[in-house]
Amino acid sequence: MKKIYLDYAATTPVDQRVLEEMKPYFNKDFGNTMSVHSSGRAAKSAIDDARERVAKLMGAKPLRIIFTGSATESNNTVLKGIAFANKDKGNHIITSKIEHDCVLNSARWLEKRGFKVTYLDVDKYGLVDPNDVEKAITDKTILVSIMHANNEIGTIEPIEEIGKICKRKKVYFHTDAAQSFGKIPIDVDKMNLDLVTVNAHKMYGPQGVGALYIREGVKIDPILHGGGHEFGLRSSTSNVPGIVGFGKAAELRMKEMKDEAKKLTKLRDRLIEGVLKIENSRLNGHPTKRLPNNTNFSFSFIEGEALVLHLDMKGVDASTGSACSSKSLEPSHVLTAIGLKHDQAHGSLRLSLGKDTKDKDIDYVLEILPGIVKNLRMISPFKD
Ligand SMILES: *Cc1c(COP(=O)(O)O)cnc(C)c1O
Repeated sequence: MKKIYLDYAATTPVDQRVLEEMKPYFNKDFGNTMSVHSSGRAAKSAIDDARERVAKLMGAKPLRIIFTGSATESNNTVLKGIAFANKDKGNHIITSKIEHDCVLNSARWLEKRGFKVTYLDVDKYGLVDPNDVEKAITDKTILVSIMHANNEIGTIEPIEEIGKICKRKKVYFHTDAAQSFGKIPIDVDKMNLDLVTVNAHKMYGPQGVGALYIREGVKIDPILHGGGHEFGLRSSTSNVPGIVGFGKAAELRMKEMKDEAKKLTKLRDRLIEGVLKIENSRLNGHPTKRLPNNTNFSFSFIEGEALVLHLDMKGVDASTGSACSSKSLEPSHVLTAIGLKHDQAHGSLRLSLGKDTKDKDIDYVLEILPGIVKNLRMISPFKD
């Protein structure tokens, strides 16, 4: 059976060129970056190169980047590190209802420790209204954290507009760009970003490596205390091969992002057009302000999990925002926030494309999906 991977939003395969660049750092140039001997210096210089490459992809200065273990860690560092370092200034944080769980759960954790959090609503496409951000800012606000693009529905937020407001109001502005980095342009100065979260494994780099951009002058505490790696902001012996891989992936994205986006947008729109021919289906997220590789649908009367299992039996890897994401029967908080009724939210399917996605893969999905939906509906207890 052929295998078609359409879950690039969850993670991506490591590009062969990235893997090749990483290899020497496992057992040849494997020194500790804090050691003064030549192996240590080789590792340190490799990390400096990677820092430059990752910084360049977001228009930042290399020394403003720290490497972390994941986007989850970067987001935790931002929320907790900004909150505790700026307590004297205020205790209020603004975010949205559709952020990744690592932002939302960090925010909730801070709420239990005396911080106040505003969770902004989004419209039916998942867009945050910059006016709502402005209205929510008080003289106690220390941080606004709004994601660049949503991982479930692909909606791209008006980051530049929100950045202008935060700059005018002198409030730190953070974006979680884990899903958008290397897919659409991001520029820390143009967008007035003070903090940016990214990772490697969503853009053909290795899993377990993240980075955080921190603008000069931003007051932030580390959450990992120790030997003082990463300018004292993230102690831990560096994941040298991983960071080298992240750097290579960023360099490749710099060159290949534009062409890939063009190709994937075409495939994406063809997939959307075809899938929406299925009765009682809808597209979740914005029709045009969306990531080039993201599609997300709802099919009434059926369970997203059943859809994913049936696609899997036909060799297609997909994902759903229904039950399994929360390991409970609650549907995705993102789909609920855009106003979907529970049955629509439960019947959701995310198909996310990537560099190896071909025209014929889209043909195949469009060939098998209508039948799967039809069969599941025939046995559905929800349909009268
Ligand atoms: C994948 C993702 C994360 C988590 O990234 P990890 O590196 O796996 O921790 C955070 N935010 C968004 C928007 C994501 O897509």
